Amino acid sequence: MPQRFLLQCLGCDKTLPLHHLTPVCPGCEEPLSINYNYDVIREALDKHKVKSRGPGVWKYFELLPLAKKLNIISLGEGGTFLQKCERLAKTLGLRKLYVKNETTNPTGSFIDRGMTVLVSRVLDAKVGSLSCVPIGNLGASLAAYTAKSGLTSRISLSSEVDLGKLYQMIAYDADILFSDHRKTKYIPGRHNSMNEYMVTPSDPFLIEGEKTIAYEVCEQLDWRSPQRIIAPIGTGGLLSMIWKGLQELSFLNFTRPSTTKVTGVQAAGCCPIVDAFRNQRETIESVSNPKTFAVDIRVGAPPLGQKALNAIRDSKGTAVAVSDVEILEAIRLLAKTEGVFAEPSAASTIAGLKKLIKLGAIDRDEEVVCVITGAGLKDPSVVDRLVSNQQRVRRFVHGVEGRRVTTKLGATKVRILMILSEREVHGYGIWKMLTEEGSQQITIPSVYQHLVELEALKLLRRLEPQPVIGKRKRRYCSLTQKGLDVLTTLRRIES
Ligand SMILES: [Zn+2]
Repeated sequence: MPQRFLLQCLGCDKTLPLHHLTPVCPGCEEPLSINYNYDVIREALDKHKVKSRGPGVWKYFELLPLAKKLNIISLGEGGTFLQKCERLAKTLGLRKLYVKNETTNPTGSFIDRGMTVLVSRVLDAKVGSLSCVPIGNLGASLAAYTAKSGLTSRISLSSEVDLGKLYQMIAYDADILFSDHRKTKYIPGRHNSMNEYMVTPSDPFLIEGEKTIAYEVCEQLDWRSPQRIIAPIGTGGLLSMIWKGLQELSFLNFTRPSTTKVTGVQAAGCCPIVDAFRNQRETIESVSNPKTFAVDIRVGAPPLGQKALNAIRDSKGTAVAVSDVEILEAIRLLAKTEGVFAEPSAASTIAGLKKLIKLGAIDRDEEVVCVITGAGLKDPSVVDRLVSNQQRVRRFVHGVEGRRVTTKLGATKVRILMILSEREVHGYGIWKMLTEEGSQQITIPSVYQHLVELEALKLLRRLEPQPVIGKRKRRYCSLTQKGLDVLTTLRRIES
């Protein structure tokens, strides 16, 4: 029986055996693509069979690059809600709008659809561990799926990571290396000497899983493809795979030939594909200094940009860039009209939709699906931006955020650090200042106790005793660099 899928090099067209693991060609090192034999799949699968299976990515097993079902690692990804957005549609002046709510995936991101495919395949191949340099949700998803599989993951992070994603990686017990992205080299899909598989956001096995978004949307619309699907463009993988998924359904006669206009959104501070599309250029010029708070679409040189651009052109879609302010407004709008709290890159699709309606590029009668790729709590700092005009709410949020730090340190200790940030003072002097402020009733011994504890935390240093004429020797206290850093952080929280 002919094979269901083939691995083919995008560079030299060479076909590789199914058990070939790395996603680059051993000959020319170009990325591989996965090509299916739709005649074989048509024999094995029809839409009634799909419909009869339980929800999730793996109901489309025959359309995914895994030879057997033996080692599937699943956390229940996919099968997400296609939410009809009547309130949001009315606000935007649109007739029919849906969001494909990917925030409910196991780690809160659409990446889980790809990670289940990738980790299952790697487990099949008996590779010991996986590693990645995540640009956003990739690390959190990798950590969760490797935890479930029993494999280990090694993740290199820079301080630019969103806090929620960092919490996830820590909880899933990934081995985290703190580094600077600019210094870390991507070695896509290579094994290194430690029998480790390097995952990149453009890995062909990873992005194959992402096309199931398109399958589900059509199935949820009773095997009909919508007039338009809007998705954010980061690496370019998602958009190109949505187009691939739509075409595959029509090859299998599940749907009529797709007329869906595939539409991409980028941030104004990082929009190489929008630029190429707008200027009708064939080549995509990288952005050397990408700027946006939407981490997952801050990709200056999208590795699958060309594929995304082709998908937009072939489907007669369009591309649009939106500002951070527009994205923030879209987060607010989506949350308050539809109860969906999206992360910035995800909400960019709503911002893009709003803009395209305004520009007249989207007809008010069109049926539109926006893909909401990830959950809002991944980046808690977004909430701070959302309440920037509401001082009372903002103060309260900051109080709650700061609670962790101040309850651990205590108000008196913080006050002592503040006194010492201005000059070196001895214990008695600190006691005098605290009591003169009148806000605190405190004894001299307890001030000394605080000083001992702050010294143990390495937040202050007690200097050698200094003789004072006619008095006892005094030990002055001085703030350490760590003490200064803690104080700076606290002030930032309170500002
Ligand atoms: Zn090749």
